[in-house]
Amino acid sequence: MRKRIVAGNWKMNLTLEEGQKLTSEITNMVNDELNEEITVVINPPFPHMQAVKKLIDGSKNIFLGAQNCSDKASGAFTGEVSATILASFGASYVIIGHSERREYFNETNEQLTEKVKLALSNNLTPIFCCGEPLEIREAGTHEAYVTEQLTKALFGFSAEEMQRLVLAYEPIWAIGTGRTASSDQAQEMHAAIRNHFAAKYGDSLAAGLSILYGGSCKPDNAQDLFSKPDVDGGLIGGASLKSRDFVDIIKSF
Ligand code: PEP
Repeated sequence: MRKRIVAGNWKMNLTLEEGQKLTSEITNMVNDELNEEITVVINPPFPHMQAVKKLIDGSKNIFLGAQNCSDKASGAFTGEVSATILASFGASYVIIGHSERREYFNETNEQLTEKVKLALSNNLTPIFCCGEPLEIREAGTHEAYVTEQLTKALFGFSAEEMQRLVLAYEPIWAIGTGRTASSDQAQEMHAAIRNHFAAKYGDSLAAGLSILYGGSCKPDNAQDLFSKPDVDGGLIGGASLKSRDFVDIIKSF
C-alpha cells in the first residue's frame, strides 16, 4: 500500500517559542489519538528545525522536513542551506518546487532538478510540488501544464531515484485562498499525474507513488479529498499552524 502522508508547511510563520508549543501539542495529540499508520511531516522554518526534531524524537509517526534546500552542494552561497546541512540535523523530507519558490524566487525546472538530486544523495525524501495558476485552469489546459512541469524537472531521474519521491499537486489558485479544489478536481489531476508516471516508469512504480493534495485543505474538506483513490494525503499550509486543525486533518483518512 502507498504511504499516506500529511505534511505541514509552516512557511515563514511562528517564533521559536510558538513553534515549540505547536510541535508539543501536535506530538501529544498524534501519540494519543492516531491509531492508523499515517506519516506526519513537520516543515518549520530552518532555525526551528533542531528544536522541533528534539520534540518529535520518540514519536514513531512524526518526521522532520524542510521547506526548501539549495541547488548547490556547498560553498560560498550566503544565506543558502544545503541538503547536507538539513540531513545533518535529522531532516527526513524536503519540500522542493513550492509555487511560492517558483514564483517569488524564480526557481527554474533546472534548479529544481538539481535540488532533487542533492536531496536524494543526502537520503532526504523530496516532496516535489506542481500545480497550475488560475488562468491555466480556466483555459482548461491544466493537465498539460502540470505534466510538463513534471516531465521537465523529473523525467531525467532513473526509476530507482523516482520511486523515492513524494509528489504534491497544489493548484496555485487554491493555496492560501480558502478556495479548495473539489475532491473530483483533485482526483482527476492526481490520476493524470499517476498515468503520466506510469507511461514513463511503468504501472508498478506509478502505483507506489504517494501524491499529496495541497491548497486550502482543512478539517472540513480533508475527509472528502482523502477519500479519493489517488489522493494519498495532504500538504497543509494555514491549517498546519493550529494543532487541533492539523491533527484533525491527519485523522481524516
Ligand atoms: C501550501 O502552501 O502548501 C498550502 C497548501 O497552503 P494552504 O493550505 O494555506 O492553502
